[in-house]
Amino acid sequence: MTFQELNIIPPILEGLKKANYSQPTPIQEQSIPAVLAGRDLLGCAQTGTGKTAAFSVPIIQLLSEGSQARQGNSVHKKAKSTRAIRSLILSPTRELAIQISDNIKVYSRYTDIRSTAIVGGVSQRVQERALQQGADIVIATPGRLMDLVNQKQIDLSMVEILVLDEADRMLDMGFIHDVKRIIAKMPNKKQTLFFSATMPPEIVKMVQTLLVNPVKVEITPVSSTVDRIQQSVYLLEKGKKQSMLNLILQDQTIASALVFTRTKRGADRVTRDLAKVNVTAQAIHGNKSQNERQRALNNFKSGVTRVLVATDIAARGIDVEELTHVINFNLPNIPETYVHRIGRTGRAGKSGMAISFCEQDELAFLKDIEKVIKKSIPVVKDHPYPMNNMPVFAQMHPTKQTSKTPGGKSGSHRSAADRPGKSKTNPARKPKSEWFTKRDKAASGGKSAERHASGSRSARSELSHAKGGPTSGATRKAEHSKTNSRSSVQGQQRRAKTHSNQAN
Ligand code: AMP
Repeated sequence: MTFQELNIIPPILEGLKKANYSQPTPIQEQSIPAVLAGRDLLGCAQTGTGKTAAFSVPIIQLLSEGSQARQGNSVHKKAKSTRAIRSLILSPTRELAIQISDNIKVYSRYTDIRSTAIVGGVSQRVQERALQQGADIVIATPGRLMDLVNQKQIDLSMVEILVLDEADRMLDMGFIHDVKRIIAKMPNKKQTLFFSATMPPEIVKMVQTLLVNPVKVEITPVSSTVDRIQQSVYLLEKGKKQSMLNLILQDQTIASALVFTRTKRGADRVTRDLAKVNVTAQAIHGNKSQNERQRALNNFKSGVTRVLVATDIAARGIDVEELTHVINFNLPNIPETYVHRIGRTGRAGKSGMAISFCEQDELAFLKDIEKVIKKSIPVVKDHPYPMNNMPVFAQMHPTKQTSKTPGGKSGSHRSAADRPGKSKTNPARKPKSEWFTKRDKAASGGKSAERHASGSRSARSELSHAKGGPTSGATRKAEHSKTNSRSSVQGQQRRAKTHSNQAN
């Protein structure tokens, strides 16, 4: 199957060529014809499957053809001529919104479609100006968009196509009220494309009220993603995670590593400690300004920094090609979050490595994770910081023999952990120009099994603390009560346990 066979118009084909997309991914094959036919869509697929192009390519096509206008609808004719917003894409995080916006700019480069991102944490003035100049497609996070709606800076009455991306995550992050208010500002009659990895009752209700006879698209179960990724776990003595990380990163074949910490403070600490051993690292989390977050992400993508340290919320939906390693500095207390984290690597049919650190008080999380992924994660035993009094279940784990761990018994000694690396940039990474060389993408897939946020509590606090991201007080209050009422007893117990066990 080719994009031509999906009846994509030449200017968009040109844009796709520019992006080095030679053939559609499975989700694109299934979604593009349905969206072009004007159908509502219910998609179960996570970022990494080619979801962005699956919805945005047909949107660009529909808008540039002005299909509605050609059908003689005067409202739509006016919308096209005045460059009113005809498509709104709502995304839970700023990074994801910016990523979608960047992609759309590439796909629509040879059309006359204009798009702009509306996200918190950056100057509103610039966004107001972009809106005044006219945008056919707006990609937005709900908080900033709602602010602009309240200030009457944005008119959504001409929206023809609405996309709700990662709807379950928007629910988890407490955005659902804003989303509903935003939808109320749009015409009833519109095409809706709805993406959600999971279907909790509130999302099912939304689907029932929003979508009319939708085409359903579901992409490869998450287990296949997990199978492609080489996983291992280090059972560590308390307080040795940073030393272990430093040691692992001495291996210069690790070109890029996304390190997950549970807390924002933890992310900062890990970043600082990596700098002490000359590993280039930057952190992204909700206490950073949007500009700082974007800069850190861009530096990581272009290979200027070798390590990106992130909390789950900040890293949501981030797509980094060629990411070779995911390192769980802290094991997540929600097993599905583990699956989602490690799915950052092993993208588009490629393999990847997922390394986890586990201290005594995280063993229960490890057990939960293994239950969900239905396999035991091989334990790396050859390292200088083994856990004392290792429980029987851990001793019986399959062992991963690694001659690679620097400082392991077969390698250099523990003090090697503090030996500084030399290069500030990352020679093993490809130059930026090669980032768009994509092959084997058609094989990509991966349906997220994410059923809960990796802690809606942290999501909330990240959002409310985000510098310069003016989310209204009422919104925050709504988010607070909503999230609290939703947390399951089990989740609360797990989270309470984690909070009392703050290891980093
Ligand atoms: P997404 O799920 O939209 O975030 O896409 C994941 C990655 O796959 C991104 O780097 C896209 O640029 C890339 N991608 C999407 N569709 C294709 C395609 N048809 N061919 C090659 N790469 C693609």
